[in-house]
Formats: sequence, structure tokens, C-alpha cells
Amino acid sequence: MLRQYELVDLVKSYDPDADEDALNRAYVFAMKKHGAQLRASGDPYYSHPVEVAGILTKFKLDSSSIIAGLLHDTVEDTDTTVEEVKSLFGEQVAQIVDGLTKLAMIEQKSANNKQAENFRKLLLAMSEDIRVLLIKLADRLHNMRTLHFCKPEKRARIARETLDIYAPLAERIGMQEVKSELEEIAFAELHKDAHDSIVARLNFLREQGSNIVPKIISQLQKDMEDNGIKASVSGREKTPYSIWRKMQQKNASFEQLSDIMAFRITVDDIATCYQALGIVHSKYHMVPRRFKDYISTPKPNGYKSIHTGVIGPENTRIEIQIRTYEMHEIAEKGVAAHWAYKQGQKAEGKNFRWIRELLEILEQASNPEEFLENTKLEMYNDQVFCFTPKGDLIGLPVNSTPVDFAYAVHSSVGDSCVGAKINGEIRPLRTVLQNGDQVEILTSKAQHPSTEWERFVVTGKAKAAIRRYVRAYKREQFITLGQEILERLFKGENLEFSEKGLVNVLQNFEAESIDDIYAKVGEGLVTGWDVLKAVYPGYKQSKLEKVVKSIKVPSFKKVIKKERKGEPLKIKGLIPGMAVHFAGCCHPLPGDRIVGIVTTGKGVAVHTIDCKSLEKYADEPERWLDIAWGEDAESDMHTGRLKIMLSNEPGSLGELSNLVARNNGNISNLNIVYRTVSYFELLVDIEVKDLKHLTDIIAALKASKVVSYVSRATQ
Ligand code: MN
Repeated sequence: MLRQYELVDLVKSYDPDADEDALNRAYVFAMKKHGAQLRASGDPYYSHPVEVAGILTKFKLDSSSIIAGLLHDTVEDTDTTVEEVKSLFGEQVAQIVDGLTKLAMIEQKSANNKQAENFRKLLLAMSEDIRVLLIKLADRLHNMRTLHFCKPEKRARIARETLDIYAPLAERIGMQEVKSELEEIAFAELHKDAHDSIVARLNFLREQGSNIVPKIISQLQKDMEDNGIKASVSGREKTPYSIWRKMQQKNASFEQLSDIMAFRITVDDIATCYQALGIVHSKYHMVPRRFKDYISTPKPNGYKSIHTGVIGPENTRIEIQIRTYEMHEIAEKGVAAHWAYKQGQKAEGKNFRWIRELLEILEQASNPEEFLENTKLEMYNDQVFCFTPKGDLIGLPVNSTPVDFAYAVHSSVGDSCVGAKINGEIRPLRTVLQNGDQVEILTSKAQHPSTEWERFVVTGKAKAAIRRYVRAYKREQFITLGQEILERLFKGENLEFSEKGLVNVLQNFEAESIDDIYAKVGEGLVTGWDVLKAVYPGYKQSKLEKVVKSIKVPSFKKVIKKERKGEPLKIKGLIPGMAVHFAGCCHPLPGDRIVGIVTTGKGVAVHTIDCKSLEKYADEPERWLDIAWGEDAESDMHTGRLKIMLSNEPGSLGELSNLVARNNGNISNLNIVYRTVSYFELLVDIEVKDLKHLTDIIAALKASKVVSYVSRATQ
């Protein structure tokens, strides 16, 4: 294990200004906090963070990173808090440790690796500070190096996860060295037989004297020197894992793989790269389709090099990479190399290109702080990744809500969603989801998409589904309403109402079905009288028509529009975003004392406190919600329902509607319950501001001589 002074010396070797005192304190702190905890190897636990810090010195990271490396498991595994870290080691270190602790928690939620791609994106999105990711990779690297101490069943899982998630991540940020080491260890664990046989064959080749690597190196070196090019040439066998991958991809046997050796020519500048390439290609036969120029077209992770395949010295098929020293450093160390580079060279890195997404930022950054600030991994900050209860990851646009999540899982889940648990707690459907949230959608068959949802969903899938539903639902309502209007009108006129009669007049209304006619009447595009006159041409309308026409019944269309565009219900004590509706039995108004009842499947129903239907829930106190009207609840219009007995005489309906209108009420629905020679009994829905408004109207009606009885309808 790295000793305290050794670690400090390592850091000081590349960063003479490093905070020695803080490094020492962090070393001791980690040691004390992890105390007697042991690793699977039997070593004291604190040897792990110390080794991780050691790996980080290889990346030449700043002292904040080294300190965070030493502390990376303290918050997760000991009683240490982020605040404690902050007070002892400062804001920056605390933030990095906090990020690492969050990543560790996220890791535990991930159930399967089928979604490795999403998981990698999640890790990138969560590693706001690039140092979080670098320490995470160093952590994983050390865990892999000590993997053989773990129990076999645990080993396979960790190795698979490393291959699926962490090796590609290392590659993604350009850390070739880390990537290769992670892959080799995981490969040896997961495919021990294949690994061992490849290693055995490589050994055999070497023993056979066919280890011609040194010969080829010196020949290539000579080729360069002969042409006046200063270059260093190195050669290596490919790693067992990359040989195995190639065997799989090409479905080839080991013997068929001719290029198990790779050589590298490293030179000073780009121009010399192309000169070296010219020499190689003019001297040796090029193998078709093996030439790739990643200098003119870098890989997405910023990797630059020329690759070519030739029949090289000793008549052997080999792969040659040609690159500059700078490119090499970056290929091996990736973002860490940039970090060190920026540290050392400050403003000189202007012609330096890196990960494509960060290209412009880098070119403009002029000092390490700015570089760090700007390299916050923002490539996925337009997405959030959330877990299903089973641990599957769902990627969504930023600002998505549980409803978006539900629709992303399945349309049927979205359509029937009534609530959501986020990280185990019931939360409003309009809650904005955060990276790593675990979301459980509560569903009910009785639920339907709500127009309310349209205000907060962000995904196209959710929006489209809600609109589709609302369109179909509205039409259904128009059809029901239209049919009612027609039936009532025909009956009132003592005319036979039959579908047959309607079929004959379809064309008059450009309708394709009877439902079309109903819908048009319901929507108010066609009046009931238009239809009646079409069915009974020449029928003379009774006196009542004029009266009915004079009542301003707003079309259903208007009512729906209002519901849709209105502000959220102004009620206190509700769980925001939860579906809510006013009970049809009591029509509560601002001014009424109210309670909420949590219904099965339809959210919260608001009742007046004295509503008779509340008796049903007397034995279920858990369904009762204490709610009250908000400050400006009366700025919305609410529906009050009145039961009215009206004299059956000409003009009485007109008088009724005039009285309501004069008191600023608006009749939104009117239903004749009973009709005798001397009176009508009506149920009238009136849009009012609040209870006082309705009471005023009741008083006005009571004063009228055509009204013989009026009260709020309670049933
Ligand atoms: Mn660790």
C-alpha cells in the first residue's frame, strides 16, 4: 500500500504547488473513518481509497481530485457527512465526494445491463464535474484489480458490468489505457477458457521463435532513419481481449488472425505523420481496407491517429499506427491528459481539439479553472434517466414528469395512471423528474387521460396520447348531449323521435352517421330545431321555441374550453397535480366548507361538508382530505345547481333566465325534471363566482312571482 509520504511525493512530482497539508489530513481522515473495516482481500479498507488516489496520480490530477479520491467512500460507508467533508476540505472536494456518493447509490438501483447505453449516459449526465467520473473509473479499476478476492458469483456480475458500462465509458472519454486494463481483467473473469487459450497460444508463438516483434521494430526504425525522420517505434502483441473480439467479429480462428501484432510510429508533428505513412506505403504492400485516417477525421472521443495494415518486414501482416506524441498521450490518458496538459501549459492549448462536444469550449478556455468549469459533462444535460421499479432505465427529455414516464413505459400505463411514487414517496403527477429517480406508476382501470396533464407533459408520446383521448372523449360527450337535446325537443313537441327519421336527413347536415348529427347538435354547430325541421318539413314551431331560444344556454363547446384553459383549481390542501373534480351530488362553491374524498381511480372528489353522499365514507377516514378554498378561488367560475319550481305559463322561462342574467349568472345547463299543467320542476346549473353569488341569485328568484320554490340541489 502507498504510504502517506509516498502519495504526497507523487502529487508534488507533477504539481509542486499541491496542498500538502490537506493531502496529509485527507489520508489520515480516510484511515480513521474506515477504521477496522476490511476489504474482501483481508486488507484494511482504507488501503482501497489510498490505492485509488495512487491511480489518480497517474492521471496527474489536481489535489482536490486526489483528496476526493481518498475520501470517496467515506460518506457512503462511514458516518461521515458531506457537510463534514466540506468544513474540513472545502466546497470543491465536498461536491466531488457528494457526486461520487450519488453515483454509488445509482449503481445499486441498476438491475440489468441490457440498458447499458442508457446507464452510461446517466453516469455521464450525473458526473457534472469531470473529476467525478475520473475518480469513479479509478475506483472501478482498483476494484477490478482486486476482483479475485471477491466471491465467484459477485465477480461475474462486476466483470460484466465493467465490460458493459465502465470500459466503454473510459473509451468514451478517451482513456485507452484504463479501458484496456478493465477489459482484460473482465475478459479473464467472464471467459476464462478463451482467455487462457489465447494467452497460451501467444506464449507458444513466442517460444517458437516467431516472436519477431523486435526484428520488425528495428526494421521500421531503420526505414524512418534512412529517410531522415526522427521517430520512436514500438510494437506489441494485441491484448487477449482485443484478439478475442476480433475472432468473434470476423468469426475467425486464432490461426486466421494474421495481425495479432501492432506497431506504433510516434513522431513530432502532423506533417511528419504523413511523411512516415508515405514511407511505409511505398516500401510495403498495403492491405486493402485497413487504412484509416483518424487525424483528418478524429473519432467521436477525440482519438487521433493513422491506422494502416501492411505486409511488413519478415513478410508478416501487421498493423501500424502513426501519430504524434501529443496524440499518443491523449489516446492513452484521454481527458486526464487534457487536464494535465491544461494545468501545465495554461493558455497555450489553443490549437488543441478534444471530445467533439467540448471542442469549442476547450478552444476558448484559457485557464484550468475555466477549463474545469466548462468541461462539466453537458452532453446529456438535455436528458434525464429514471428507473422503473424493476431497475430498467428510461431516458426522457429534461423536465419530464411521471406522466411522461408512464407513457414512455407503455401507452396503457400512461392512459391509466392515477399517481406516482418517486423514490418510494407519493408525489404529484406534475413533479419534474431528476436523474436517477425511481418511479413507480400507480394505475387504475377507471382512470382516463386528463386534459390537465397536457399542461405539464413534455414528451410527444404523452401529448399525442392525451390529445387523442380528449378528442375522442369530447366527441362522445357531444354525441350524448346532442342526442339528449334532440330527444327532449322532439318529445316536447309531441313528435316521434326515431333514428330512421334522422337517417333520411343525413345529407342535409353533411353527416355520415347519426352520431355525426348528434355530435353537431351537441357541439352547437347545428340547432335541434334545424334537425326537427329537416325531419318534419313544414312543422310549425310552438310558442315555446322562442322562449327556449331566448335562454342563453352556452354551447357545450364553450364549457369544455373553459375547463381546459382555466387555472388549476384553487383549493388548499390538495396534493398538487392529483386529479380532482367537484362532486356532482353537491356542486360545492367557494364559501362552502368542503372536504376531499380520495376516490378509487378518479383522484379527489370535492364535496360540501354537509353532502349526504359523504355518509358512505364515514368508516374510511383514510380517504378524507382536509381541504379549503384558496384565496382567489372565486376568480374561477363554478357551477351551482338549483332546484326550481316554475309556474307553467308563457314567459316564465324567459323571466327565469333574465333574473339569472341580471345577477351576472350564466345558465350552463337546464333540465326539466317534471312538468304538469301548472308548473315545471327544473334543475338549473348556473355558473357563479362563489356561494354568496349563488345566494344572491336564489334571493332574486325567490322574489319573482313565477318562481314558487327554489333551493340548492343536493342530490
Ligand atoms: Mn470505492
